[in-house]
Amino acid sequence: MRPFDEHTSLMNMGNWQTFLAHHAANQQQAGRWRHRAVRKSGDERIDFASNDYLGLSSDPRIIEAQQRGAQRHGAGSGASHLVTGHCDVHHELEEALARHTGRERALLFSTGYMANLGVLQALCDSDCLVFQDRLNHASLLDGARLANARSRRYHHANGDDLQRLLTRAAPGQRRLIVSDGVFSMDGDIAPLEALTSIAAHHHAWLMIDDAHGFGVLGEHGDGCVGQRYASDQVQVLVGTLGKALGTAGAFVAGDATLIDHLIQFARPYIYTTALPPGVASASLESLSICASEPERRRHLQHLIAHFRAAALTAGLPLMDSSTPIQPLLLGDEARVMRWSHQLAEQGLSVGAIRPPTVAAGQARLRITLSARHDVGSIERLVNALQHCQQGELQR
Ligand code: PMP
Repeated sequence: MRPFDEHTSLMNMGNWQTFLAHHAANQQQAGRWRHRAVRKSGDERIDFASNDYLGLSSDPRIIEAQQRGAQRHGAGSGASHLVTGHCDVHHELEEALARHTGRERALLFSTGYMANLGVLQALCDSDCLVFQDRLNHASLLDGARLANARSRRYHHANGDDLQRLLTRAAPGQRRLIVSDGVFSMDGDIAPLEALTSIAAHHHAWLMIDDAHGFGVLGEHGDGCVGQRYASDQVQVLVGTLGKALGTAGAFVAGDATLIDHLIQFARPYIYTTALPPGVASASLESLSICASEPERRRHLQHLIAHFRAAALTAGLPLMDSSTPIQPLLLGDEARVMRWSHQLAEQGLSVGAIRPPTVAAGQARLRITLSARHDVGSIERLVNALQHCQQGELQR
């Protein structure tokens, strides 16, 4: 793409081609052009990039359940939940998710992104104040925008800053505190004890998006909130099925009044086709495996400890995370790209995360560990990372 002439752009912004060229040129000039790699079946690389934390996405029992669901109900659900798309298998899955998280009810959404948009849009309006952790997922920020709510962002995982903002809020306004459970790019866990007590003190509701904790944390994989915090402490719990559960979709869990409200008012729930029944059937099987095979979580924790000890010895720039998300903070965008290419050449697939997904100067390799891995693959990864580091010293 040729460099963009700013003068021409401003004169022609009413033209679609000019608009597209303007944005493409800006993105390229900032070095932020996004590329999609096509993953082919039979790819031999070891995957340290996906969110398949329990290694369930390729489990034959789950694939078989997906086929069974499709055979019984068809490849697609054919309609939204409120028309005719809500099959018995969706219903069973919702009931199982509610039991698993210790909530009265659960409601399925087609993706986690839509669940977050749906909750915020249905609960909030311009009379509502939303308090968000600075590092919350994009879907939470977008949801508050869609709701036209007033948002305040507190310093990451900082209860004092949250208190400061809440103290300034006008009395009588509805308040919603929103946080990732496990932060997707840092891997750290939200300070839930502090958040629940601050929320109670300030008469706020607390919404936790446990996309990366659900299935991974807790004795039975109920996540960082799950059964530990009751629904009068964490009123809105969001979990996704496309990560540890290895399938797709998401759910919101809470009291019946919350779920009924979402069914009535959450537009990303109402106006979209229900998840394919095969996916619901696969998720039901996956949830049951997740609950009954705690050894997957134990193995994963063992790999996390092994990786951290080896990476620390190797002097790699680890972040403070106890979850399967183990980012290496490299800072510089070009450096991140160089390391990820070198790792790919050695048969290791690792996510390269750059601004705007993270703040400027905070580019990182997002390494994710999975119960699929073994100690040998972790050692191979650490050796390859050490090679990247040594290569730099010799440059
Ligand atoms: N919340 C968080 C914290 C996430 O990291 C993601 C996806 N990466 C989502 C929500 C969106 O979930 P989904 O991929 O199911 O849309």
